[in-house]
Amino acid sequence: MSDFQSPTSDFKPPTSHLKNYRKGEIKIFNKLLDLIYPPVCGICGKLSDNYLCIKCRNKLFNEAVFGQDYYEDKNFENHFYLFKYEGIIREKLLDYKFNEKPYLVRAFINFFIFYQKNYFHFDFYDIIIPVPISKKRINNRGYNQSKLIAIELAKFFDIKFENDILRKSINNKPQSTLDYER
Ligand SMILES: [Zn+2]
Repeated sequence: MSDFQSPTSDFKPPTSHLKNYRKGEIKIFNKLLDLIYPPVCGICGKLSDNYLCIKCRNKLFNEAVFGQDYYEDKNFENHFYLFKYEGIIREKLLDYKFNEKPYLVRAFINFFIFYQKNYFHFDFYDIIIPVPISKKRINNRGYNQSKLIAIELAKFFDIKFENDILRKSINNKPQSTLDYER
């Protein structure tokens, strides 16, 4: 499995502002970015083309639970989860959400995709919608952490991405401050 080439290994910061450039030019631009910001593992910080080195991927795998719950009394039927909210993943999620480290999305996505068979089949779904966050929080943070993940998953699994279907109306307590954490 060491020859695994991440499908998102070419993930780069958004280049929508480069719309008028040709593909080849964007590639060169990305190559230049690699020189300035070489790809590193989001967990240990060592150089890694896939943004998640094999050692850390295995470490995360050992922490993963790949769980699933079913509900009849909520607005959703299934809840899939990869981790309990503890250990390395909790630390990295806190970094991702609160310490201005949106690039950690690459490490998360690589893990999702590498172990996709362990949890569920995306081809069952028509649309991917990120969990919305409040305007206030987006202004503070600069990004919706769930949107970044949703965009990459939608791209990889070729599923429609919709961002304007759900709107946050109540400012509930951030997950990171809850006593009961998953
Ligand atoms: Zn690593």
